[in-house]
Amino acid sequence: MAETRPDVRNLDDAADAMSGCPRCGRHVVPEALKAALMVCPMCGYHHALGALQRIAQLADAGSWEDVASDVRPGDPLEFVDLRPYPDRLRSAQVATGLVEAFVAGRCRIEGLPVALGVLDFGFLGGSMGAVVGEVFWRLVQRSITDGVPLVVVTASGGARMQEGLISLVQMAKTVVALEVLRDTHLPFVAVLSNPTTGGVLASFASLADVIVAEPGAQLWFTGPRVRELTTHEHTPDGFGTAEEALECGHIDMVVPRGELRQRLVDLLILLQGGESAIGEAIPQRSAPFRRRAGALGRALERTTGLARALRRWVRGGDY
Ligand SMILES: [Zn+2]
Repeated sequence: MAETRPDVRNLDDAADAMSGCPRCGRHVVPEALKAALMVCPMCGYHHALGALQRIAQLADAGSWEDVASDVRPGDPLEFVDLRPYPDRLRSAQVATGLVEAFVAGRCRIEGLPVALGVLDFGFLGGSMGAVVGEVFWRLVQRSITDGVPLVVVTASGGARMQEGLISLVQMAKTVVALEVLRDTHLPFVAVLSNPTTGGVLASFASLADVIVAEPGAQLWFTGPRVRELTTHEHTPDGFGTAEEALECGHIDMVVPRGELRQRLVDLLILLQGGESAIGEAIPQRSAPFRRRAGALGRALERTTGLARALRRWVRGGDY
């Protein structure tokens, strides 16, 4: 699958195509945008990154090797809406240069071997169909076989509507894959980029040992329009952002893109029982102990965050 090889030219193409920042409206010289990893130097807005751009940012040069590149999409329901599903698949393949929405492989990050998977929002909204579920499963198996940590970067609108129930089953499949991984005590770090929603947020994206999000990323199960049509209530400003998810304890940290690579390295070293820049204050214990302690801490933190949100709601605060 030569077309999925990461190439920094993708970053160049994206920057050259950028006309202005959607947040501040200012035009940024493409070279400056590229140098800032597609983060607006004026306002900090994190532009979308395709899967190949993300891999080019994170993986050591020349270290990438595809996993499950032989898995191809089908049309199990022979689905037709305004266009037949196979037509939509072909258009997405042409637009992104990918076979499907999830690109998976082995690579190194600052010399550390990892199993890395990246969802591409440009491919049918990064939606999860049968191929995404199967490639995720194989990536987890590769992580276990090689004894290396799993890192997944998400950007998704949720389930693949054109695959109906088959799409929804992928939620269970990815969760089961992570249950198998958990028995090995190998670390799993998820990076949630804008947007991460629906069935992806409600399955594997929320089950990592450490959940990182990019600043301003939209993280919710249902979008504002459906939410407000259903509840007949206006959701507060900032609802569903990475920053709010951090405050509520759903995620563990918000990390700007420019710091992401080093933060991943620190986390992976720490989670495997080594010392890192952010782990110096933590006493040396076995990696399984740390992972169990970390999971307990997160569960408490999330429960506390939910309780805090409920208290505010009862008192008539912002929630
Ligand atoms: Zn801007």
